[in-house]
Amino acid sequence: MPNRRMSEKELLDSLDTALRDNHIYPCYQPQINHSTGRMVGAEALMRWKNPEYGMQYPSDFIPLLEKNDQLYRADVHIFETVCVFLRKCMDEGLPLMPISVNMSRYDIYKHEYVDEIESLRVKYAVPVKYLHIEVTESAAIGGMELMKDVIMRLHKHGYLVEMDDFGSGYSSLNILKDLNVDVIKLDMKFLSGDIGGRGGIILNSIVQMAKWLGTPVITEGVETMEQAEYMKSLGCNYIQGYLYSKPLEEKAFIEKIGQIEHEAMSPAMEFIKTVDAGKFWDPTSMETLIFSNLVGAAAIFTYRNGEMETLRVNKKYLREIGMNMTEKETLTIRPWDHFDEKSRQIFEDTIRRAIESGEEESCETWRNICSKSCGNDKVCIYTEMRVIGSAGDQHLIYAMVHNITNEKKLFDEVFNSERRFRFASEQANVYAWEYTVATKQMRPCFRCMRDLNLPPLLENYPEPAIEAGIFPPDYADMYRDWHRKIAAGVPHLEAVIPLTVGRIPFIVRYTTEFDENGHPLKAYGSATLVVDKESAPKPALGRRHVRLPARLRKNCAK
Ligand code: C2E
Ligand code: CA
Ligand code: CA
Repeated sequence: MPNRRMSEKELLDSLDTALRDNHIYPCYQPQINHSTGRMVGAEALMRWKNPEYGMQYPSDFIPLLEKNDQLYRADVHIFETVCVFLRKCMDEGLPLMPISVNMSRYDIYKHEYVDEIESLRVKYAVPVKYLHIEVTESAAIGGMELMKDVIMRLHKHGYLVEMDDFGSGYSSLNILKDLNVDVIKLDMKFLSGDIGGRGGIILNSIVQMAKWLGTPVITEGVETMEQAEYMKSLGCNYIQGYLYSKPLEEKAFIEKIGQIEHEAMSPAMEFIKTVDAGKFWDPTSMETLIFSNLVGAAAIFTYRNGEMETLRVNKKYLREIGMNMTEKETLTIRPWDHFDEKSRQIFEDTIRRAIESGEEESCETWRNICSKSCGNDKVCIYTEMRVIGSAGDQHLIYAMVHNITNEKKLFDEVFNSERRFRFASEQANVYAWEYTVATKQMRPCFRCMRDLNLPPLLENYPEPAIEAGIFPPDYADMYRDWHRKIAAGVPHLEAVIPLTVGRIPFIVRYTTEFDENGHPLKAYGSATLVVDKESAPKPALGRRHVRLPARLRKNCAK
């Protein structure tokens, strides 16, 4: 708190002394990874403590210096003081972490800014990785080309560039993709009080966009645990604000870095070469057009050490999964909540394969989906996935999905009815088969396959059965004629035929199925043993009674 607020004139008159005697100096506000509690860096914030009048408000003197074209000098002074501090940390073996220094929007008009700070850095021999430069979004207004040029020159020297006060207005979303910044700083105050409503939606879309661009986000002005937790739920763990710490004087900051562990901020994700990250987000780009309209049901998610998060889904995805879910519902749910233990295992194994191979990998998994409008249901999803970007152990994965629940259910039904059928025919001593008129294909029942050693599909029926001796030569023509009759539309055929070389008498029946126009589609054949009341054991057809042609035997071996 200022003991006395200095007048503009007093401030301007004392500026030279303030710079020379370090009345103007940085305080350091820690930046924390909320999920680990470790420090990832700090921001240097300008303070002015007049020996006579005490602390002055940045909101008073910064705009004043700006107006009088003096902020540039103060900024360079802060940069130099930060270099001195980092040099001291190196010399005294204190923990080192990146310090973000503010660059005013007027500094970009001073062509020498980049050269000047660079020569200071070199003077103190501070590795460039410990210095980040914060530029504000508003600086780009009217000076987009200049801004691009400054960022490019900063990058050339190796400085990381942070976009300050992102979301404060202007054409934020466009700026992000045009300017090649490395970190985005979001200020809670631009979104305050409205997290559940529009603010939350804006925040969410900014965060998603940042993720798309692979840019880490630091949230500033975080005062409450609730805000921090909310940001964490969006996947933004880096927090700067009173919740963790006010800006600290150098001495207090040194104490702090001694107490708290630190870690490096995760690097931005590298998109695979063929994907242009900027275009991928741009709502008007071809990439987005393709994602939303031309590809099938698709989702993008991140995976890191067992943690999975869905970033984006297209409309077709929502339709494919069904359950009337909204995009928001889909994105906010924790993906693993959908999976039981076994499905999760299958899905994670597939992810790992995709990471290792760099190729497309696929799997089928059941998911328990609970949606607001449809309640609980189980769906079976076929997923084809491919890694499109990686940063360290974090991976960005593109997934195409197909809902195969109906196919699965049908398959289960067929499987079950087949099982019942098999069981019944076993009991009744019936052999059954299905003949398709148009294709002359025959599908035998399990029992036929087993006892007669038949393959699952026979072409040009009934020739193979005649050739195999299942239908003996003296019945061959009659049996051929039956198939002509079926094709001509005869609905029912029946005769006793001695089957196989053993000439075991069977009642052979055919029932024809017709389509809606009365054309024959299929005929269902069966052979039931003629039970002679006196004969005790029921003979079955056996392989020993059949001369199976080599062509068929080969099929069976498969
Ligand atoms: P900024 O760069 O957005 O800095 C963040 C401001 O938010 C700081 O205000 C900080 O003290 C404050 N803050 C941090 N945590 C919280 C919180 O939890 N709640 C609230 N309500 N505020 C929080 P400060 O230090 O008063 O600085 C104000 C602005 O002055 C800065 O905003 C920046 O635009 C400018 N500034 C500060 N230092 C420099 C500098 O060295 N150079 C230039 N050009 N501008 C500077
Ligand atoms: Ca700042
Ligand atoms: Ca800020």
